[in-house]
Amino acid sequence: MTGLVIVGHGTRSAAGVDQFAALVERVRRRGDTGDVEGGFIELSRPPLTDAVGALVARGHRALVALPLVLTAAGHGKGDIPAAMAREQERHPGLSYRYGRPLGPHPLLHDALEQRIDAALAGADRADTVLAGADRADAVLSGADRADAVLSGADRADTWVALIGRGSTDPDANAEVAKVARLLWEGRGYAGVEPGFVSLAQPSVPAVLERLRRLGARRIVVAPYFLFAGVLPDRIVAQSAEFAAAHPDLDVRVAEVIGDCDALADLVRERYAEALGGDIRMNCDTCAYRVLMPGFADKVGRPQRPHDHPDDPVGHHHHGHDHGHGQHHDQHHEHGSVAVVGGGPGPDDLITVRGKALLDAADVVVVDRLAPQGLLAGLRPDVLVVDAAKVPRGPSMAQEAINAALVSHARAGRRVVRLKGGDPYVFGRGHEEVQACAAAGVPVTVVPGVSSAIAAPALAGVPVTHRGVAHDVTVVSGHLPPGHPDSLVDWAALARARGTVVLLMAVDTIAKIAAVLIEHGRAPETPVLAVQDAGLPGQRSVPARLDEIGALAAREGIGPPAVFVLGPVVALATTGRTD
Ligand code: SAH
Repeated sequence: MTGLVIVGHGTRSAAGVDQFAALVERVRRRGDTGDVEGGFIELSRPPLTDAVGALVARGHRALVALPLVLTAAGHGKGDIPAAMAREQERHPGLSYRYGRPLGPHPLLHDALEQRIDAALAGADRADTVLAGADRADAVLSGADRADAVLSGADRADTWVALIGRGSTDPDANAEVAKVARLLWEGRGYAGVEPGFVSLAQPSVPAVLERLRRLGARRIVVAPYFLFAGVLPDRIVAQSAEFAAAHPDLDVRVAEVIGDCDALADLVRERYAEALGGDIRMNCDTCAYRVLMPGFADKVGRPQRPHDHPDDPVGHHHHGHDHGHGQHHDQHHEHGSVAVVGGGPGPDDLITVRGKALLDAADVVVVDRLAPQGLLAGLRPDVLVVDAAKVPRGPSMAQEAINAALVSHARAGRRVVRLKGGDPYVFGRGHEEVQACAAAGVPVTVVPGVSSAIAAPALAGVPVTHRGVAHDVTVVSGHLPPGHPDSLVDWAALARARGTVVLLMAVDTIAKIAAVLIEHGRAPETPVLAVQDAGLPGQRSVPARLDEIGALAAREGIGPPAVFVLGPVVALATTGRTD
C-alpha cells in the first residue's frame, strides 16, 4: 500500500508539535492509509527528511505527500513541494502524489462548530472567558452545562469571529471568508465574520470592533487553526486585550481544531483523493496565475521564500531546529561574503562558480531581479533574506543590506549576495564589496552574465558584429537627459556609430531617443526593446529610433527591459523575437 507522509510547516509551540504527532498516530492506528509518517519542513522535529527517509528505508518508492494545511497558501503551494523536491534529489527514483489542502470541508466546519459550542457552554478552559466578573460564575457552572444541548437562543445571540492565519496570497484569505460563510449557513449564529491574525485585514481587533458595532454582546473568537502555536496564542492575547477594553462584552476564545477523529477522517479522504489522482485545486483566483490588483509581483513568478511573523528572526529559515548536523550556522569560524551575479533570469545562466558558492551558502541575500528559481534548490536550512522585502514594502536601504551581509559573515556564516545579471553593472555590487572590506569581512565578487549583453543576445541581436559595430556602450537610463545628476554624455553617444544598450530606461526612452536624434543619430536607427529576457514571458518590440518612445508605451513595455539600438539590431535573427 502506498505510504503516506503527512507534512507540517512547523511551529515553535511544543503543544502544537504534540498535537501533530498525536494526529499522525491517530491516522496510523486507523491502518487504512498504509505506512504513515509525519514530518515538518521547518522549526519542529521530526524533520520531513526523517519521515521520508523512514518510509524509503521501509521500501517505499512512491508516496502520497499530504500538506497538513487548512488553506492553499505559500506553505502548501511552494514550500512543501520545494521540500519534497529536495527529498527526491536525496532519494533518486522517489515519486509522490501531492494531496490538496484540508479545507474547506464539512468535517472541519463541524469541528469548528463543536469548538464554538464548547466555548459557549463554558466547558473549556476557564481562561477562554476573557472578561467580566459576572461571567466567572458562568464558567463555574459551565461543567453542568457542558452536556446540555445549547439552545437556539444561545447561538442566535452569538457572533463568531473566525480568525485565519492570514496570507499575502489573496486566494488563501478568500478561503477563510468562504469558511466563515459556510460556518454561518444553517447553524443559527447571529453572524460569522472572518479576520486574520497576521498579514491580512481585518485584524483580530478590527473584526471584534466590527462585530461590536453590529451590536454584538457575545462573541466567540474561533481560530481557524489546526494546532496550537504562536499565532493562536496571539489570537487569545489580542482577544483578551479587546475584551479588557470592552467590559460590557462577553468575549470567548474557542480551542483550535486539534487532534481529533474528524481531522483523521479528513486526512484519509485527502490520501484517497491523491491516490486516485483526484486533486481539484482552485486555480481561477490564484494570484500566481491570475493578475489581481496589487499582486502583479506574483503572477507567473516562482514562489519565493517569505517572511512571516511566526518564523524565526522574521526570516524564512528552513530546518532551524532540525538538529541534523545540517545547520551550518555556527559551525564556521570564518564567515565570508560572495557577491554573485546570477545572470539575467533563468536558473541556468549563473556561472559554475556562482552556483557552487550558492550551494555552499548558509545565508542568501537575494534581489528581486536575481533568478528566483535558484532559491528552490537551496538546502532546507539556508536562511533566505529578501533584500526587496516581500511582498510590496519599500526596498531595504542599501546600508541595511550592507549591515546584514557584514553581521551574518561575522557570525561565521557563508553569505551569498545573489544579484541579477552582473553585480558590477548597475548592481551596486561594489558598494557591498567595499562595505565588507571596510568591516574586515572576506569578500569576493563572482561576475555574472549581464542583461546588457544577454538580453539583446537572447532576442537574436549581437551587440557587436564584424564590419557592423566595433563598439558597444552600456548606459543607465534611470536619469533622463538633462537631469542635473546625470553623468552621461548623450551628445557623444549620438555621434558614435556603434551599439547603445540602455538599462533602466523604460520611463525615459522617449526623451533619450529624442536627445539622440537631436544630436545627430539617424531617426531610422533600428531599436529593439527586450523585456523579461530569458524568462518565459520574454518579448521584444522592434522600432525606429524616432518611434520607439511611442511604441514602447503603446506596447506596454515594462521593466525589466533593455533597449538596444544601432546597426546590429538590423541583424536580429527571428528566433525569439516574437
Ligand atoms: N546588474 C544587472 C542590471 C541591474 S539594473 C545586469 O547586469 O543585468 C536593472 C536593469 O537591468 C533593468 O532595468 C533592465 O534594464 C535590466 N534587466 C535585468 N534583467 C533583465 C531581463 N531579464 N530582461 C531585460 N532586462 C533586464
